Amino acid sequence: MKQELFFDVIILGSGPAGFSAAIYAARGNVKTAILDISMFGGQPSNYLELENYPGFSLIGGFELMEKFEEHADKFGVEKFPMVEIQSVNLTSEVKEIETLDTIFKTKTVIIATGAQAKKLGIAGEEEFKGRGVSYCAICDGAFYKDKVVCVVGGGNAALEEAMYLTKFAQKVYVVHRRDEFRADKIVCERAMQNDKLEFILSHSPVEIHGTNTVEKIILKDLKTGEHKELEVNGVFPYIGFSPNVDNFNGQLNQNAQGFIETDVNMQTSVQGVFAAGDVRNTPLRQVITAAADGAVAACNAVKYIETLETVNV
Ligand SMILES: Cc1cc2nc3c(=O)[nH]c(=O)nc-3n(C[C@H](O)[C@H](O)[C@H](O)COP(=O)(O)OP(=O)(O)OC[C@H]3O[C@@H](n4cnc5c(N)ncnc54)[C@H](O)[C@@H]3O)c2cc1C
Repeated sequence: MKQELFFDVIILGSGPAGFSAAIYAARGNVKTAILDISMFGGQPSNYLELENYPGFSLIGGFELMEKFEEHADKFGVEKFPMVEIQSVNLTSEVKEIETLDTIFKTKTVIIATGAQAKKLGIAGEEEFKGRGVSYCAICDGAFYKDKVVCVVGGGNAALEEAMYLTKFAQKVYVVHRRDEFRADKIVCERAMQNDKLEFILSHSPVEIHGTNTVEKIILKDLKTGEHKELEVNGVFPYIGFSPNVDNFNGQLNQNAQGFIETDVNMQTSVQGVFAAGDVRNTPLRQVITAAADGAVAACNAVKYIETLETVNV
């Protein structure tokens, strides 16, 4: 028999959005729990350091997330790491999250489950992740001063990130599998005017090589089948992001890529369900924007709870 636990706010995901929501909700004096399918801390716990979180000119990702967690602890947030979620029902007035041993019941849910960069799926990609393979130019671009890097992709994000990388790198290759870019005309025009960019169309990446860090990428010419090598210090795949929404698909309005649609209050299409951070349809996926979303979501969840009169939890 599963235990039943009752909360005012349940936050799914313990990255910057989740912990920030937890701090604001618990401080708003509502019974708050945070659940994660993994260890706490979200994406920043997995990378070395950040240089752009205000107040810290340089801080380890793990260290920053420990601070978020300690802060949430101070306000008595109940924590459930490594949960195995079996089902999530968001549409009833009392929302339910069922795990292997517990049925969590709650008045509101804040979804802060993040997103993952789509992988190229080629040899060397996993091996050199964090050692030359990066999925975030804004985060890691400054480490490539005067180096040569390669961006893979042909949409707005790929071209914009490639242009951003030219602030640091001496040369940026843009490799795209089609013979024209998918990016908006204005973005393409700006990219074409950038002398540091070199475009390699109708090619796809096949392998990444190096010793300690990335040294070269092998490309395949999709018209002739021939392979060629590019000497590069970094590879930035920009072939899109996918939101972590497996548990909620179909219950909420999502855009074509699956990101959750919210209004400015982080309210989703379902009453009492909010979304924050990388999982939602947002123009910037960074720690500061995720944390800000979490704060907005939590404040509005608390307001929503105050309007409820007869919810039976
Ligand atoms: C390599 C790399 C470097 C980066 N560097 C920087 C940087 O320098 N500066 C910066 O500002 N940003 C950086 N970012 C971006 C930043 O990390 C993200 O924008 C931020 O972490 C998003 O926070 P989030 O809380 O929305 O999601 P996440 O941090 O992704 O956290 C989501 C959490 O939800 C959990 N989860 C997933 N599914 C479920 C589920 N069904 N139920 C419960 N929990 C679930 C996950 O386990 C995870 O812990 C970087 C990203 C990457 C990949």
